[in-house]
Amino acid sequence: MTRTNLAYKVGAHVSTAKGVQNAVTNSANMSGNSFALFLKSQRQWTGRKYDKSEVDEFHDLCKEHKYSGKTDILPHGSYLINLASPDANTAYNSLKGFIDDLQRCELLGISKYNLHPGATVGYDKKKCIERLAANIDRGLEATNFVQVVLENMAGQGTTLGDLDDLAAIIDLVKNKERVGVCIDTCHTFAAGYDLRDEKSFNKFWKQFDKLIGYKYLAGIHLNDSKTPLNSNRDLHENIGYGFLGLEAFRLVMNKPELEGLPLILETPGEDDIRAEEVKLLEELIGKEADDEFVINKSQELQKLGEKNRKVEQEKMDKKKKTSKPEKQKPLERCLEDKHVLEQFEKDADKYVRERDMMSEIMKGEGDEKPKKRAKKVKEEIKEEEL
Ligand SMILES: [Zn+2]
Ligand SMILES: [Zn+2]
Repeated sequence: MTRTNLAYKVGAHVSTAKGVQNAVTNSANMSGNSFALFLKSQRQWTGRKYDKSEVDEFHDLCKEHKYSGKTDILPHGSYLINLASPDANTAYNSLKGFIDDLQRCELLGISKYNLHPGATVGYDKKKCIERLAANIDRGLEATNFVQVVLENMAGQGTTLGDLDDLAAIIDLVKNKERVGVCIDTCHTFAAGYDLRDEKSFNKFWKQFDKLIGYKYLAGIHLNDSKTPLNSNRDLHENIGYGFLGLEAFRLVMNKPELEGLPLILETPGEDDIRAEEVKLLEELIGKEADDEFVINKSQELQKLGEKNRKVEQEKMDKKKKTSKPEKQKPLERCLEDKHVLEQFEKDADKYVRERDMMSEIMKGEGDEKPKKRAKKVKEEIKEEEL
């Protein structure tokens, strides 16, 4: 398939099965102009280190397929990471897993990293946000250039990630140059912000600009929603099939502030479905709401999703909204646990050494030779460990 050089960089979350380098080819095969990937198993704290050949091949393939690590790739962090956690063990593992992810980005020459802000699990929100911001700064301190991009969430349970939360986190992060936000269309809608017509769409973005600001916008996740507005459910649907409908995506594809950003599909199904979605979204560029193609396609896709929407609407109507606040349960281990903090202090020195090594090597070679850089860093880190 051929890729067109467009201002709007639509792509998809792709598989890294049999090696991280395969993400690049998987994306190229579906003509994506941007892509996302997991840096390691998304359900594990740590993963095996990358082989040198994998890293080299990743760089070579990006060059061959013209993906820039600076702008076109937005990896997704592990689902386990909760940097806001009041539990000492979870906090410690999260921070280690987070820094490991950031280091992987830098080895691969990737400048952006998408992360779920985490959850309070019923604890004091203000304290959780403070802890989260401090942990983001620890990660930034331990690395050289990668930007931490916080994703807005659907508002399920005690999850952090409404616009207010993101604004409060950014406010507390010291290194504001390296923090940003990713807006997921499904999460936004499920959290109660309508995006289905021009008026509501613009109202959301106005609020976004007021609370956070476009300068922090680093990426978009393009997903229709399986569940209705304000459902607080994180259930992605194929473009045009869900409660959002095609018009919301036509608006995305004609919003100048989103030009040049990674616009990533995380919709269900196999790669060929997302390849079709990439094509469809690109066709929406420059089209008006009353365009014949837009109207016909919109009706066609809504029809295909009609049955599922009916089921979900009935479920939501039946479910009485119980808004009991979650109880704050005391945990045996808490963050103040001295041993854990001491342990992290030890790790922190190692991270800073690794960061400085990476920085030295980058200085010497510039951006031209990421391959060599990755090799040297790997060797030197190995020596350090001996
Ligand atoms: Zn996500
Ligand atoms: Zn998402």
